[in-house]
Amino acid sequence: MRNISMGERGRKVHGIMICVPYQGHLNPFVSLALKLASKGFAITFVHLEFLYRKLCDAHHANKTDVDLFSGARELGLDIRFTTMADCFPLEFDRDANFPEYWDTMVRDFPALADEFVGNIVSSEPDMLHFLVADTVYNWPAAVAHKYNLVNVSLWTQPALVYCLAYHWDLLEQNGHFPCKDDVPEEIKYVPGVESINTKDLMHYLKESQFASVANRLTRLIFEQAKMADFVLQNTVEELEPQTLAALHKYLPNYAIGPLNFSKNLPTNTVTTSLWSESDCTDWLGSKPPASVLYVSFGSFVHTNKQVLEELAYGLVLSGVNFIWVIRQGILGDGDTNALPSDSFQDAIQERGLILGWCDQIKVLSNPAVGGFLTHGGWNSTLESMWSGVPMICYPIGFDQPCNRKLVVDDWEIGVNLCEDYGSVDREQVAHKIKSFMNGGVSDKLKENASRLRQLVHNAVEIDGSSEINFDRFVKDLEAKIHAQN
Ligand code: UDP
Repeated sequence: MRNISMGERGRKVHGIMICVPYQGHLNPFVSLALKLASKGFAITFVHLEFLYRKLCDAHHANKTDVDLFSGARELGLDIRFTTMADCFPLEFDRDANFPEYWDTMVRDFPALADEFVGNIVSSEPDMLHFLVADTVYNWPAAVAHKYNLVNVSLWTQPALVYCLAYHWDLLEQNGHFPCKDDVPEEIKYVPGVESINTKDLMHYLKESQFASVANRLTRLIFEQAKMADFVLQNTVEELEPQTLAALHKYLPNYAIGPLNFSKNLPTNTVTTSLWSESDCTDWLGSKPPASVLYVSFGSFVHTNKQVLEELAYGLVLSGVNFIWVIRQGILGDGDTNALPSDSFQDAIQERGLILGWCDQIKVLSNPAVGGFLTHGGWNSTLESMWSGVPMICYPIGFDQPCNRKLVVDDWEIGVNLCEDYGSVDREQVAHKIKSFMNGGVSDKLKENASRLRQLVHNAVEIDGSSEINFDRFVKDLEAKIHAQN
């Protein structure tokens, strides 16, 4: 660990960190908090109260006075932990009411964040503060400006998605925002993106999503994201070199990923899983190497019963071993009965394991796992790459169509589940899974998966690009804080 980071006249440098309340954001945020603390910064990690309760429910028998970072502090890291209210009562179902939640968060949360950050700053006058906020918020630039804080923005999706959203106006000028859902066209004018088909653009750029809250929010956040002092990207320089190089022209931009695999951090001391995990090590231990397909659609997107049914029978017909994570609430309509019928359970017997949640990184790194049927969330993508596990991609929304393009078309470490976006048919599913798991994966795809596995592992070594970029960021951050105070 480095010496404590001190500003001029010996004032300690303190980061206030606030992420949006989703698993795919929380995991990299916590790693970043530990990374910054290991460089000697003092950190205050802020959870929204409801998320904190969810973590306590899942791991601490509903206790409500758990300091989630006490283990990290015992190891000498200066991390405090606190919570703040969002705009809703604790019992409000934010997941099932996504549009209402975010419409209100966009409108009312900035004032709460302003007051909350202002209180921290004024209660600790002996410290030099900076802000590390999720890019997916519309308030950090204004709050940072008001309290004279250096504004660090953490982006938890690929640089490709950042770059496309950054050039929203350009897409609009060229008639690609909103883009027609069923008219595929190649886009070649976005700096840093050699080519992308409109079918692979983020879901919220499509005409059918024009009225969606994701569309309104993303445009808004990118107007203020451009004002960040530093942008941290949870990606790897060697994975997206052209896109990152193009962004460097506009922003102080640092690729420091994959954050979930940063070296020498006490990540096991901090609770991050929003659901309690089932352990499937014994079950996996009973299966031959590379014989199990791991199936999960992450923590956030919803799907419908018909899709789940086609997948379920596709898995049955395929004959392969599988673990399928069906998290509570995946249907998004309050229906808790996501699985088709008892006959499905009878049909899978010992061959399939259905879980509500698991330690995904542990599962993917088990030698019994040979493939990942994924919605293509960015963390899941990086985690699969980390273990060299080839993917079958089934993008559902948000950034996932772009991530699919990277995985299947650019890096060639995965295949599509179905050729038509959104449609799922059990016979096709069975055929795809069967051939993928029974040797149908080409040697090239396997070679690519193992090459990229090495690439992401190298990035987090001491002389790897992400570590070098992180050290550069820390130096630049300190210089900026000192210059500003
Ligand atoms: N995850 C997990 N257990 C599960 C399913 C998912 O720990 O059973 C984690 C996974 O490791 C990843 C995160 O949840 O870090 C999901 O993030 P991602 O960006 O892949 O998808 P999102 O949930 O944001 O759609």
